Amino acid sequence: MTPILAIHGGAGTMRADTMTPALEAQFHAGLRSALLAGHVVLTKGGSAVDAVTQAVMALEDDPLFNAGRGAVYTSGGLQEMDAAIMDGRDRAAGAVAGILGPRNPILAACAVLASEHVMLQGAGALAFCREHGVEFAPAAFFHTDKRWDALQAELERRRLTAADTRDDAAKHGTVGAVACDAAGNVAAATSTGGMTGKAPGRIGDCPVFGAGTWADNATCAVSATGHGEYFIRHAAAHDIASRMRYLGETLEQAANVVVEELGSIGGSGGLIAVDGQGHVSLPFNSAGMYRGVIGVDGVARTGIYRETLVA
Ligand code: ASP
Repeated sequence: MTPILAIHGGAGTMRADTMTPALEAQFHAGLRSALLAGHVVLTKGGSAVDAVTQAVMALEDDPLFNAGRGAVYTSGGLQEMDAAIMDGRDRAAGAVAGILGPRNPILAACAVLASEHVMLQGAGALAFCREHGVEFAPAAFFHTDKRWDALQAELERRRLTAADTRDDAAKHGTVGAVACDAAGNVAAATSTGGMTGKAPGRIGDCPVFGAGTWADNATCAVSATGHGEYFIRHAAAHDIASRMRYLGETLEQAANVVVEELGSIGGSGGLIAVDGQGHVSLPFNSAGMYRGVIGVDGVARTGIYRETLVA
């Protein structure tokens, strides 16, 4: 079995006409370092679950991406983060929702995975994290002017028009990783600030198992990004696993159908998926999706729009 890791940094890519070469290079560099952070775990014989944790931590630490540091703001001007992790060996799962405090929300999800719980939210989740020694950071650590300005622009847009005229790029952002380790075990991790101007208390698909995050050795591991409500209502991640299981579809077939179907009903976004044989699929129905793959050759390949991944 050859270990493999795939990541995404959200399907809400900047429009190609507003992207600059310098910013594009920064996104590629951020994706590359996250790939390498996860890859080093796999090359040392580590587990898929540890690899996806490291990759997602790197993306959370990078303020370019909408998770952890650099998360977007709710309409109430706060940051509320969701994160989830699932281990395909035994379907052990842990998720947190609506939290602000843990430096790396994915580590809060890991702490839940290691407990008797599966999902914790809000104040109770934070108390749990404190009890379990999860590292916290002050609110200022998570702030970026870019996300604050995006909220102001969104609130202004709402004042001027009732219609939602935003394009994909304005709506999305999330980070995630899926991996298959040398033993053929798969895992998935997803972390997000959600959507700019989301209602306080709104929880997206990321921490909902079977919607934005799923892992089962028998089929696949999936981490999604996009308009969360659609992914929840269509149980997107679990639908891929079910198609493989009951229809005998390949990972590629199942992932493509689900993303296409979501697109046809207005659910823009994409996902990354890996199966227990190390096949990878990275479909999206939006203009782009920050993404990358790294296999045994140790070469990090990344992409933003519809181009072939570049080393
Ligand atoms: N799926 C995330 C959410 O709905 C946002 C995103 O991935 O862009 O919270």
